[in-house]
Amino acid sequence: MNTDASPRPATVVTGGTRGIGAAIAERLAADGHDLFLTFRARRDEALELADRLRSGGTRIELLQLDLADLDAAATVLPEAISAFGTVTGLVNNAGITGRIGGFLDAPIEESELLFRVNVLAPIVLTRAAIRHMSTELGGTGGSIVNISSGAATTGSPHTYVPYSMSKAALNMLTVGTSKEFARAGVRVNTVSPGTTRTEIHADAGRPDAPDERASRIPMGRAGHPHEIAGAVAYLLSSDASYTSGADIRIAGGN
Ligand code: NAP
Repeated sequence: MNTDASPRPATVVTGGTRGIGAAIAERLAADGHDLFLTFRARRDEALELADRLRSGGTRIELLQLDLADLDAAATVLPEAISAFGTVTGLVNNAGITGRIGGFLDAPIEESELLFRVNVLAPIVLTRAAIRHMSTELGGTGGSIVNISSGAATTGSPHTYVPYSMSKAALNMLTVGTSKEFARAGVRVNTVSPGTTRTEIHADAGRPDAPDERASRIPMGRAGHPHEIAGAVAYLLSSDASYTSGADIRIAGGN
């Protein structure tokens, strides 16, 4: 719950209508956030989640866009600010892996696409968020959470090296901006999930990946999206007022 006297938080979650993003949205709704959720294609799921959260009293705005289109990505923060008057949080969650396979087989077009979605769009959204939030630019501060991956530090050989590279780049977005804007009231942190049960694995061509990897996870199982969401809620809350540049790894012991 948002227990302090500050105004109701208003948070943007990219890819906030399915998988980990939807779990984050559900948790933030329970914590009293107004939510601006983006999605790319799966309209029915987006509408169903929005209806459900609205019926619980949460203010929800939806925006359909392809984050690979960086001009479209540049509209997200202005639209959210216009809808809510202010934005206090941004969760750069939307991400794609590309097909699972060997490094030599990954088409360069696929790597270009995943760098657009996983790295360039977060740069665009983060710049817009900081321009709005920075106390040095007239804002009232804010919190940004980047959803990275345990893959950022393993290189993901034989699986998806370019995806791993994109998440390592996202980690540096946190490290650099958290320091550059620490005195401007903007906190930036990373949450790094391990293998989590969502459809991202089917999209990568390996729907059974969570079960296949379970034996290599110390806890012996893949995670569930709601097990990621709490860390995001914490980082967006005033409980995390002295936390910036952190990376919370949620990977069953890995
Ligand atoms: P998911 O179930 O595949 O959901 C992805 C979400 O992102 C969907 O809402 C999707 O919209 C949206 N999206 C995808 N591509 C987009 C694009 N080009 N433009 C706009 N929106 C787009 O994925 P997830 O497993 O929840 O993953 C969420 C984040 O966690 C990603 O950054 C991923 O890399 C990271 N992560 C996941 C795992 C895991 O094992 N699941 C592990 C580590 C890190 P639609 O619904 O319209 O398709």
